[in-house]
Amino acid sequence: MDTKDIFKNNKKWAQEQLKNNPKFFTSLSKQQHPNYLWIGCSDSRVPTNQIMNLPAGDVFVHRNIANIVAHTDFNCLSAIEYAVEVLKVEHIIVCGHYGCGGVKAAMDGNTPGYVGNWLSNIKDIIKLNKDELKDLNEQEKYNKVCELNVLEQVKNASSTTIVQNAWKNNANLTIHGWIYCISDGILHDLKLDKNTL
Ligand SMILES: [Zn+2]
Repeated sequence: MDTKDIFKNNKKWAQEQLKNNPKFFTSLSKQQHPNYLWIGCSDSRVPTNQIMNLPAGDVFVHRNIANIVAHTDFNCLSAIEYAVEVLKVEHIIVCGHYGCGGVKAAMDGNTPGYVGNWLSNIKDIIKLNKDELKDLNEQEKYNKVCELNVLEQVKNASSTTIVQNAWKNNANLTIHGWIYCISDGILHDLKLDKNTL
């Protein structure tokens, strides 16, 4: 698709929104009130609002390769801080996906450059869970590491000072671990209980 077509598509989309709700853009331009922070993978096949069927304004989004929450990543921490302390979202959704290229690269272990460094977090997850992974075939192992990565990133998000302070102050805040299946478009709740983390 030519980039010129994107501008045509954009006009069409804006007109469709107005047809459904003539005040859609005027009310959005005043303020945002999202109730969800989405921490997901940058993968182009996992488009946040589309898969949740939510309109603009309903979800605050942070995406990076393999949906990692690193305590040294000011970008992710800033997004969590702003979402929790200013927007007062009630749900943080850490969403991974099966078939994640970042997870695969971490499993293969030979990715050079920045991406290789970025994925070291997942390489640690693989090492830490080697007993649980050792009897699985390649596909089962791939799926399991995608799930374990979500679990680990939920733990990382939970242990940030931002979330710990919010819970200390009795904020109504829940962290969810979900996984998306690219091959059928279905989201799954991994049911990660805060108390078991
Ligand atoms: Zn991915």
